[in-house]
Amino acid sequence: MKSFTPEQALQLQGSGARLIDVRSIEERRSGYAEGSTNLSIDEIAVDPSSLGEPNESALIFICQKDPRSKRAADIAENAGFKDVSYVVGGSEAWKSAGLPWTVEDTFFERYARHLSLSEVGVEGQRKLQGATIAMLGAGGLGSPIAYYLAAAGIGRLKIIDHDTIDRTNLQRQILHTDARVGELKVESARQTLLALNPDIEVEAINDKLTGENVDAFIGDADLVIDGADNFAARHLINDACHRLHKPWVYAALQQFDGHVSVFDLRDPDADLPCYRCLFPEAPDASFAPNCSEAGVLGVLPGLVGMIQATEAVKWILGIGEPLVGQLLQVDALRMNFRKLRLRKDPQCPQCGERSKR
Ligand SMILES: [Zn+2]
Repeated sequence: MKSFTPEQALQLQGSGARLIDVRSIEERRSGYAEGSTNLSIDEIAVDPSSLGEPNESALIFICQKDPRSKRAADIAENAGFKDVSYVVGGSEAWKSAGLPWTVEDTFFERYARHLSLSEVGVEGQRKLQGATIAMLGAGGLGSPIAYYLAAAGIGRLKIIDHDTIDRTNLQRQILHTDARVGELKVESARQTLLALNPDIEVEAINDKLTGENVDAFIGDADLVIDGADNFAARHLINDACHRLHKPWVYAALQQFDGHVSVFDLRDPDADLPCYRCLFPEAPDASFAPNCSEAGVLGVLPGLVGMIQATEAVKWILGIGEPLVGQLLQVDALRMNFRKLRLRKDPQCPQCGERSKR
């Protein structure tokens, strides 16, 4: 098998050879040899015919250093390609030789429809890009939330979930695929989200949220979103957000109905309610069955999660009126949306006078 220096590869490219970068899309974000096309080693290994017809043109493979490009050349040779080679030293050598190097800045293209909104614009989009959102759950609510936050360009998404994908999840948990049943939800979420928007950072944490790790999880977040839909998690998040002065977006589901609110706990002395003002203690589990026990219309978490995502994007941009001090009730069967006022409870065990004594 032949190999070339980056300089030789550049020359051959000029005379019609195809330069194929076999790194992942994420790796290409930091730049790539000019004129190279992308086909990851995994894609080539699974389907060598993705390289096209044998002997249409010479193929030169390039990766980060060179082991993967060598392997790609091997696969191509076995698939009947005659003129194959790889670049010694890969993209690193190409770049340090000072050869033409492309770094794609997709910012203006990707967010064009945001940039033309005067309420967002470049400044707002940069705010989204600079934001960190901590999300609990990569399930029914987490799917639409994470999808739209990734699409909107939230720069850093932290997602915690300790579950694996079950086929019964797929009726609503659209981040995942049938082929990934049995795999970790956070890892599946990360793959899906980076495929949609490789310009963001997704921190996938395969763990259960507990009293021990909650502070570290939300400590550096600008906003927290609960997509777990259970009382224990909501109390955990509420109390930690109150302690660390964080805003959080709440939702709850039941069969055909949903609730959404935003608890702004940045100022503990503000006259604003927290979640415990509403539900001081978790009710008996038999009064609050979860989705797996009571069932849920599959599109409902989609509808409610997207309201949470909308509140999150508004919050980071600082536009509109957040659902602070209000409880939005969604009745999907009648398609009724109703807002109730929420008030701070002076007797609240978390934020009330009683808690300060
Ligand atoms: Zn309270």
